[in-house]
Amino acid sequence: MEIRYFDNAATTKVKDEVLREMFPYFCIEYGNPSSIYSIGRSSKKAIENAREKVAKLIGANSKEIYFTSCGSESDNTALKGFVYLNKEKGNHIITSKIEHPAILNTCKTLEKQGFNVTYLDVDENGVIDIEQLNNSITSKTILVSIMFANNEIGTIEPIQKISKITKNHNIVLHTDAVQAVGNVPINVSKMGIDMLSLSGHKLYGPKGIGALYVKKDINFERYIDGGHQERNKRSGTENVAGIVGLGKACEIARINLEEHQNYLKNLRDYFLAEVKSKIPNIKINGDLENRLPGNINISFKEIDAGTLLLKLDEKGICVSSGSACSSGSQEPSHVLVAIGLDKQLLQGTLRFTFGEDNKIEDVNYLVDILEKLVKELRK
Ligand SMILES: *Cc1c(COP(=O)(O)O)cnc(C)c1O
Repeated sequence: MEIRYFDNAATTKVKDEVLREMFPYFCIEYGNPSSIYSIGRSSKKAIENAREKVAKLIGANSKEIYFTSCGSESDNTALKGFVYLNKEKGNHIITSKIEHPAILNTCKTLEKQGFNVTYLDVDENGVIDIEQLNNSITSKTILVSIMFANNEIGTIEPIQKISKITKNHNIVLHTDAVQAVGNVPINVSKMGIDMLSLSGHKLYGPKGIGALYVKKDINFERYIDGGHQERNKRSGTENVAGIVGLGKACEIARINLEEHQNYLKNLRDYFLAEVKSKIPNIKINGDLENRLPGNINISFKEIDAGTLLLKLDEKGICVSSGSACSSGSQEPSHVLVAIGLDKQLLQGTLRFTFGEDNKIEDVNYLVDILEKLVKELRK
């Protein structure tokens, strides 16, 4: 059966050009980047080349990019690495209620270690409360971490407004931009971002590679001890092929950004219009204006999303209920709870995230099947 994949926020398919660029670094250019002979040096060169490409996509300097093993590691390194080194200045962190578990669970750990964390509320669209942010800042606040865009409902947070506030108070701002990088324009220097996490597999690169941007005058403690890799900030022999793949994915994303955004927006808006005209009693979640181009999150009245998801799977359709991290559990999504979604709708919500491989025909197929299944399940 043909698979039709509408879960591009969970992961994306590696692009052919990315894979091709990675290939030599497994069996031909396999030298350790720390070795000084020629094949070591060429691995090293490939890493530095990729670092430039990652930096360029987000408007950073390549010296400000550190490679990690994933978005989760970048989040952990940013938060723990920064607060451990700066705890004499204060022990207060501000984040939001709708962050990815890589941030929320890191904050839980930090709370056990004596840090205080404020979890900001969001409005019904998932936008953080700027007023509450302002009021939560104390003389002990050292770090604010707010995601660039939410992985479940697609809402883009007002990062520039947030950074104006953090700058005024001399507080460091981290953003988990794993969903945003490659999907919306980002410029860390213009936007006033001090630290940013990104991940390869969310932008058509490989899994198991991520990066952390840290502004040059900010110090942080390394999270993995060992050798001198990544300027002493992240030990362990580099994932050379993964790094090369991430670099290529970032280069393509930068060149194609506008076209990519428009393509996804068109698919999404077409899907939304079709669904609205064919399926009654639904609610669209998340901000409709400030939103990731490929994301739609829908609550279906009187539907169990888990059942619908499995029925869609039988037809070769991949979608998600909540995030990959919370699916499989019976707990309602913390994001949907935070936006105050009606109790009856919590278990009836699906996320559709479009990607570059999706065609209009795939969307038509999706709408047809969805319409039939929803009708059937509501009987
Ligand atoms: C996927 C994701 C992560 C985790 O990235 P991994 O590379 O899978 O560890 C973190 N934050 C957000 C918002 C994500 O969507």
